[in-house]
Amino acid sequence: MENIRTPIVCMLGHVDHGKTTTLDKIRGSTVAERESGAITQHIGATEIPIDIIDNLCGPLLNKEDFKVPGLLFIDTPGHHAFTSLRSRGGSLADIAVLVVDATDGFQPQTEEALDILKRYKTPFVVALNKIDKIPGWQTTQNSPFQKSITKQKNKTQTKLEEKIYEIVGNLHEAGFQSERFDRVKDYSNTVGIIPISAKTGEGIPDLLMVLVGVAQQYFQQNLIVETQKPGKGTVLEVKEEKGLGKTIDVILYDGVINVGDQILIGSHQNPIKTKIRSLLKPKPTQEIRETGQKFQKAQKVDAASGIKIVAPNLDNVFAGYPFQVINNQNEQKIKQEMQSQVNEILIETETS
Ligand code: GDP
Repeated sequence: MENIRTPIVCMLGHVDHGKTTTLDKIRGSTVAERESGAITQHIGATEIPIDIIDNLCGPLLNKEDFKVPGLLFIDTPGHHAFTSLRSRGGSLADIAVLVVDATDGFQPQTEEALDILKRYKTPFVVALNKIDKIPGWQTTQNSPFQKSITKQKNKTQTKLEEKIYEIVGNLHEAGFQSERFDRVKDYSNTVGIIPISAKTGEGIPDLLMVLVGVAQQYFQQNLIVETQKPGKGTVLEVKEEKGLGKTIDVILYDGVINVGDQILIGSHQNPIKTKIRSLLKPKPTQEIRETGQKFQKAQKVDAASGIKIVAPNLDNVFAGYPFQVINNQNEQKIKQEMQSQVNEILIETETS
């Protein structure tokens, strides 16, 4: 498991197609695990460790086949989060879930999401949501799709197939080959369509399993295994915290960050240099209830992670900008790279 970082996942799709409900279900169906500390709440993101995915999937997934430590879901769904949170040369998200309402089918923002995914070359899967609304659907709460489907009458199965092939047609027009996920032979050239219900939880295990599989493929191709490198990340939000002053919530997408590290943060003018005073992670829900304290301190954090950074000199820092851990040797070089990265962001923001 060493040196393979947690892939970052973002939900996209048309308004009301169920992005938020799907995210909630992914987190909610694992509430018991979260209370026991197995699901970790990050700042702006939620991590589902591979063991939990394995528990949910049962025989669907053979854990030994997978090297990724889990999945980190960005808590804010939507196109804006996807495009404004970036790593160098792309979106912060390694993989996306395109949520499509089975009744409504493709809508303008679904097309828009596809254009964005094409532009960023981000691997994605389609969650065909609200299958519980298909006439005649018999629900088995939180069941894997492959089990649920066998409970349906032929007529209902045919209706679902029709919906799936409508989506296959839409994706074909957009230049993607796709298929129902359990019939995909090669995920490197075929988009998997996972029928789900965010309301009943059906298909959620399958969705997680496919995401892990696609992530794995992506990581094998790109060999992004940089957990030992100096940390790199993106600012999610700048926040004033009682007793701490100005802090930044960030997603660390690569490498490691330690208390005491010097970092450079992109800014409108010149990158800002500062030193990490504290790294804060949210406490488990139960402890927040008991102690009223929201955060716990960490000495060191690995990618991918959502954390709060306490440091001086954060006045001119804005959401969407990059930061990176530096040392005396590479400071000038990183300063230049970062400034050109920020200029690109500024140009794109002005033109979009
Ligand atoms: P978002 O705008 O894409 O984040 O969509 P939401 O998650 O807010 O969902 C929009 C509406 O659809 C809400 O009223 C949800 O309760 C409902 N909804 C979401 N998923 C499902 C589903 O699987 N089945 C049914 N029946 N309703 C759903």
